[in-house]
Amino acid sequence: MTRPITAKIFPCAVEHNLNILKAKANPAKIFAVLKANAYGHDIKNIYPGLNNADGIAVLDLEEAILVRQLGWKKIILLLEGFFSFNDLHIVNEYNLTACIHSEYQIAWLDEWNNKFNSYGKKFDVFLKCNTGMNRLGLDINSYATVYSNLKNKNWIGKITHMTHYAKADEKHGIDFQLQKFNELVHNLPEEKSTSNSAAILWHKETHFDWVRAGISLYGASPSGIYKDIQDSGLKPAMCLHSKIIAVQNVKCNTAIGYGERFTTSKDMRIGIAACGYADGYPRNAPDGTPVMVENVRSRIIGRVSMDMITLDLDNIPQANIGSDVELWGENLQIDEVAQNCGTIGYELMCAVAPRVKKEIF
Ligand SMILES: *Cc1c(COP(=O)(O)O)cnc(C)c1O
Repeated sequence: MTRPITAKIFPCAVEHNLNILKAKANPAKIFAVLKANAYGHDIKNIYPGLNNADGIAVLDLEEAILVRQLGWKKIILLLEGFFSFNDLHIVNEYNLTACIHSEYQIAWLDEWNNKFNSYGKKFDVFLKCNTGMNRLGLDINSYATVYSNLKNKNWIGKITHMTHYAKADEKHGIDFQLQKFNELVHNLPEEKSTSNSAAILWHKETHFDWVRAGISLYGASPSGIYKDIQDSGLKPAMCLHSKIIAVQNVKCNTAIGYGERFTTSKDMRIGIAACGYADGYPRNAPDGTPVMVENVRSRIIGRVSMDMITLDLDNIPQANIGSDVELWGENLQIDEVAQNCGTIGYELMCAVAPRVKKEIF
């Protein structure tokens, strides 16, 4: 038997979530954000659920090429644009739409077009403005100048104005940035795009022409708190399962695992599941982190090892060798596990290791 850990992937859940988000954002068009290999789900696995997306957004050029090879004909947005002059050959060949977040990228485009574009090809771009995230984006004070210079390039196609929010998961978290964005672009005729998942779900006024759905597409909460999306109808697209591979009956006052982090306070039955930090399960998961065993809630006891975790089977007598263990997914929200570990669902999904087999449903 192969090692029993598996990530079950549900492209139908992605399709279902996409339709919910699309309806919320209607009439805006929607990008399915597939960066980090579709937040750890594998682009090719969830691709069948994306028919109703209007565009796909990725980070790496390799991801963009894969999406074209899978047959995607509509827009592909490169969320950080291109990283080198030579990337522009690929942007051109695969007809990709780049974010422009810095002026050096425009200089490269200019140079590339002078050298290679003798046939009048036009490049569509998303022009990104830094309204307060202070990560990527043109300075507010130079945005208008950069924009009008860009408009005069003979190689420029469609421009879309774009920004990104730092705290769209908070009640008034977008106000300041949205106001700046509006001041800057409300008179400009082009399309606009500002919303990530949190803004799609909680700030209607940010939707404009294009929204960009990442985490919500995969059924986890943008705030990291499950109850914030509980009523939205979103479904998890990944279910991480393993099995019990050993059972121990230990006496009271026995230490378990590395560092003896957990010591029993009674005689206990414990199970060892094939899942460790080398699978992407967080090593800092504390005692008490929830796990489902045979669909009954249990908890982690003792430190997470590279390849194993130890579970409390005291109240689950039916659990035995071969019993199903759900680390997160349908019956245990990834947000709840993440919260226990001091992180968010995004990180857990993206961290699922390549050695974990994926099964598509
Ligand atoms: C990742 C990303 C998104 C999607 O964010 P979620 O919170 O996962 O919905 C949207 N826009 C940009 C620019 C991004 O980098």
